[in-house]
Amino acid sequence: MSFELPKLSYSYNALEPHIDAQTMEIHYLKHHGGYTNNLNKAIENTPLADLSIEEILKDVSKHSAAVRNNGGGFYNHNLFWTVMSPNGGGKPLGKIAAAINAKFGSFESFKEKFSAAAATRFGSGWAWLIDKDGALEIISTPNQDNPLMDVVEVKGYPLLALDVWEHAYYLKYQNRRPDYIENFWHVVNWHEVERRFTNR
Ligand code: MN
Repeated sequence: MSFELPKLSYSYNALEPHIDAQTMEIHYLKHHGGYTNNLNKAIENTPLADLSIEEILKDVSKHSAAVRNNGGGFYNHNLFWTVMSPNGGGKPLGKIAAAINAKFGSFESFKEKFSAAAATRFGSGWAWLIDKDGALEIISTPNQDNPLMDVVEVKGYPLLALDVWEHAYYLKYQNRRPDYIENFWHVVNWHEVERRFTNR
Protein backbone atom coordinates (compact mmCIF):
# COMPACT_ATOMS: atom_id res chain seq x y z
CA MET A 1 0.00 0.00 0.00
CA SER A 2 1.20 3.51 -0.65
CA PHE A 3 -0.14 6.94 0.20
CA GLU A 4 -1.56 9.17 -2.51
CA LEU A 5 -1.57 12.93 -2.88
CA PRO A 6 -5.26 13.76 -2.39
CA LYS A 7 -7.06 15.85 -5.00
CA LEU A 8 -7.61 19.50 -4.11
CA SER A 9 -11.30 20.38 -3.97
CA TYR A 10 -10.64 23.87 -5.44
CA SER A 11 -8.40 25.37 -8.09
CA TYR A 12 -5.00 26.93 -7.44
CA ASN A 13 -6.40 30.45 -7.78
CA ALA A 14 -9.50 29.80 -5.66
CA LEU A 15 -8.08 31.32 -2.46
CA GLU A 16 -6.91 34.53 -4.18
CA PRO A 17 -6.13 37.18 -3.16
CA HIS A 18 -5.34 35.77 0.28
CA ILE A 19 -3.27 32.86 -0.97
CA ASP A 20 -1.93 33.29 -4.49
CA ALA A 21 -2.21 30.68 -7.24
CA GLN A 22 1.52 30.20 -7.74
CA THR A 23 2.09 29.51 -4.06
CA MET A 24 -0.83 27.05 -4.02
CA GLU A 25 0.46 25.18 -7.07
CA ILE A 26 4.05 24.87 -5.85
CA HIS A 27 2.97 24.13 -2.28
CA TYR A 28 0.58 21.37 -3.36
CA LEU A 29 2.48 19.75 -6.23
CA LYS A 30 6.08 20.15 -5.12
CA HIS A 31 5.99 20.33 -1.33
CA HIS A 32 2.99 18.14 -0.49
CA GLY A 33 3.79 15.90 -3.46
CA GLY A 34 7.37 15.59 -2.23
CA TYR A 35 6.35 14.64 1.31
CA THR A 36 3.99 12.02 -0.13
CA ASN A 37 6.65 10.45 -2.38
CA ASN A 38 9.30 10.52 0.32
CA LEU A 39 6.94 8.99 2.88
CA ASN A 40 6.23 6.15 0.46
CA LYS A 41 9.96 5.61 -0.09
CA ALA A 42 10.61 5.62 3.66
CA ILE A 43 8.00 2.94 4.43
CA GLU A 44 8.42 0.78 1.32
CA ASN A 45 9.03 -2.88 2.26
CA THR A 46 8.62 -2.16 5.97
CA PRO A 47 5.74 -3.12 8.32
CA LEU A 48 4.66 0.55 8.27
CA ALA A 49 3.41 0.10 4.72
CA ASP A 50 0.38 -1.76 6.16
CA LEU A 51 -0.59 1.00 8.63
CA SER A 52 -2.77 4.10 8.34
CA ILE A 53 -1.04 7.46 8.58
CA GLU A 54 -2.62 7.99 12.01
CA GLU A 55 -1.21 4.66 13.22
CA ILE A 56 2.24 5.60 11.94
CA LEU A 57 2.19 9.05 13.57
CA LYS A 58 1.04 7.94 17.01
CA ASP A 59 4.28 5.93 17.55
CA VAL A 60 6.48 8.17 15.42
CA SER A 61 9.27 8.27 18.03
CA LYS A 62 10.01 4.65 17.10
CA HIS A 63 10.45 5.44 13.41
CA SER A 64 13.08 7.18 11.30
CA ALA A 65 13.44 10.94 10.86
CA ALA A 66 12.28 10.45 7.25
CA VAL A 67 9.01 8.91 8.46
CA ARG A 68 8.52 11.66 11.06
CA ASN A 69 9.20 14.52 8.64
CA ASN A 70 7.43 13.17 5.58
CA GLY A 71 4.61 11.42 7.43
CA GLY A 72 3.92 14.69 9.23
CA GLY A 73 4.19 16.64 5.99
CA PHE A 74 1.77 14.27 4.27
CA TYR A 75 -0.85 14.40 7.05
CA ASN A 76 -0.53 18.12 7.82
CA HIS A 77 -1.07 19.25 4.23
CA ASN A 78 -3.96 16.79 3.70
CA LEU A 79 -5.62 18.57 6.60
CA PHE A 80 -4.53 22.10 5.69
CA TRP A 81 -6.19 22.10 2.24
CA THR A 82 -9.51 20.96 3.73
CA VAL A 83 -9.66 23.61 6.46
CA MET A 84 -9.50 26.33 3.81
CA SER A 85 -12.17 27.14 1.25
CA PRO A 86 -12.97 29.81 -1.34
CA ASN A 87 -16.26 30.16 0.57
CA GLY A 88 -14.47 30.35 3.90
CA GLY A 89 -13.92 33.09 6.42
CA GLY A 90 -16.43 34.71 8.70
CA LYS A 91 -17.13 33.30 12.10
CA PRO A 92 -17.51 29.75 13.34
CA LEU A 93 -21.04 28.47 13.87
CA GLY A 94 -22.62 25.66 15.82
CA LYS A 95 -20.89 23.56 18.46
CA ILE A 96 -17.37 24.72 17.59
CA ALA A 97 -18.43 28.36 18.00
CA ALA A 98 -19.88 27.58 21.43
CA ALA A 99 -16.74 25.65 22.43
CA ILE A 100 -14.46 28.48 21.27
CA ASN A 101 -16.47 31.05 23.22
CA ALA A 102 -16.51 28.84 26.31
CA LYS A 103 -12.74 28.27 26.24
CA PHE A 104 -11.39 31.59 24.95
CA GLY A 105 -14.14 34.04 25.92
CA SER A 106 -14.84 35.23 22.39
CA PHE A 107 -13.98 34.51 18.77
CA GLU A 108 -11.77 37.64 18.68
CA SER A 109 -9.81 36.44 21.67
CA PHE A 110 -9.40 32.98 20.09
CA LYS A 111 -8.16 34.57 16.85
CA GLU A 112 -5.60 36.64 18.73
CA LYS A 113 -4.25 33.64 20.60
CA PHE A 114 -4.09 31.40 17.53
CA SER A 115 -2.48 34.16 15.46
CA ALA A 116 0.11 34.74 18.19
CA ALA A 117 0.94 31.02 18.28
CA ALA A 118 1.45 31.11 14.50
CA ALA A 119 3.46 34.33 14.53
CA THR A 120 5.79 33.31 17.35
CA ARG A 121 6.59 29.80 16.12
CA PHE A 122 10.32 30.30 15.45
CA GLY A 123 11.43 29.03 12.05
CA SER A 124 9.26 26.48 10.27
CA GLY A 125 6.20 24.88 11.77
CA TRP A 126 2.46 24.91 12.34
CA ALA A 127 -0.19 26.44 14.59
CA TRP A 128 -3.06 24.20 15.69
CA LEU A 129 -6.45 24.23 17.34
CA ILE A 130 -6.82 20.81 18.92
CA ASP A 131 -9.38 18.82 20.84
CA LYS A 132 -7.52 17.49 23.87
CA ASP A 133 -9.78 15.00 25.64
CA GLY A 134 -12.83 17.19 24.98
CA ALA A 135 -11.15 20.54 25.72
CA LEU A 136 -9.93 22.98 23.07
CA GLU A 137 -6.27 24.01 23.11
CA ILE A 138 -4.06 26.15 20.88
CA ILE A 139 -0.55 24.83 20.31
CA SER A 140 2.27 25.14 17.80
CA THR A 141 4.76 22.55 16.58
CA PRO A 142 8.14 22.77 14.83
CA ASN A 143 8.92 21.40 11.36
CA GLN A 144 6.25 18.87 10.26
CA ASP A 145 5.43 17.61 13.75
CA ASN A 146 1.74 17.46 14.63
CA PRO A 147 -0.50 16.86 17.65
CA LEU A 148 -1.10 13.19 16.77
CA MET A 149 2.59 12.40 17.32
CA ASP A 150 3.93 10.90 20.53
CA VAL A 151 6.85 13.36 20.38
CA VAL A 152 4.82 16.55 20.92
CA GLU A 153 4.31 18.14 24.32
CA VAL A 154 0.52 18.58 24.11
CA LYS A 155 -1.27 15.94 22.06
CA GLY A 156 -4.80 16.02 20.71
CA TYR A 157 -7.01 15.72 17.66
CA PRO A 158 -6.33 18.54 15.16
CA LEU A 159 -9.33 20.69 14.23
CA LEU A 160 -7.64 23.66 12.49
CA ALA A 161 -4.09 23.97 11.17
CA LEU A 162 -2.01 26.82 9.78
CA ASP A 163 1.24 26.20 7.93
CA VAL A 164 3.79 28.91 8.78
CA TRP A 165 6.69 27.52 6.77
CA GLU A 166 8.07 30.26 4.50
CA HIS A 167 7.09 28.14 1.47
CA ALA A 168 3.46 28.73 2.46
CA TYR A 169 3.61 32.52 2.07
CA TYR A 170 6.95 33.90 0.90
CA LEU A 171 6.14 34.49 -2.80
CA LYS A 172 3.26 36.80 -1.91
CA TYR A 173 4.10 38.05 1.57
CA GLN A 174 7.92 37.77 1.72
CA ASN A 175 8.89 38.24 5.39
CA ARG A 176 5.44 39.52 6.43
CA ARG A 177 4.19 36.40 8.20
CA PRO A 178 1.69 38.39 10.29
CA ASP A 179 -0.05 39.63 7.10
CA TYR A 180 -0.35 36.05 5.84
CA ILE A 181 -1.81 34.97 9.18
CA GLU A 182 -4.30 37.87 9.18
CA ASN A 183 -5.49 36.95 5.67
CA PHE A 184 -5.76 33.24 6.53
CA TRP A 185 -8.91 34.08 8.51
CA HIS A 186 -10.65 35.04 5.22
CA VAL A 187 -10.38 31.47 3.94
CA VAL A 188 -10.90 29.30 7.04
CA ASN A 189 -13.44 26.58 6.29
CA TRP A 190 -15.44 26.61 9.52
CA HIS A 191 -17.82 23.94 8.21
CA GLU A 192 -14.91 21.51 8.05
CA VAL A 193 -13.61 22.55 11.48
CA GLU A 194 -17.12 21.97 12.88
CA ARG A 195 -17.33 18.61 11.11
CA ARG A 196 -14.01 17.51 12.62
CA PHE A 197 -15.12 18.69 16.07
CA THR A 198 -18.48 16.91 16.00
CA ASN A 199 -17.81 13.78 13.83
CA ARG A 200 -14.53 12.40 14.96
MN1 MN B 1 3.70 23.46 3.69
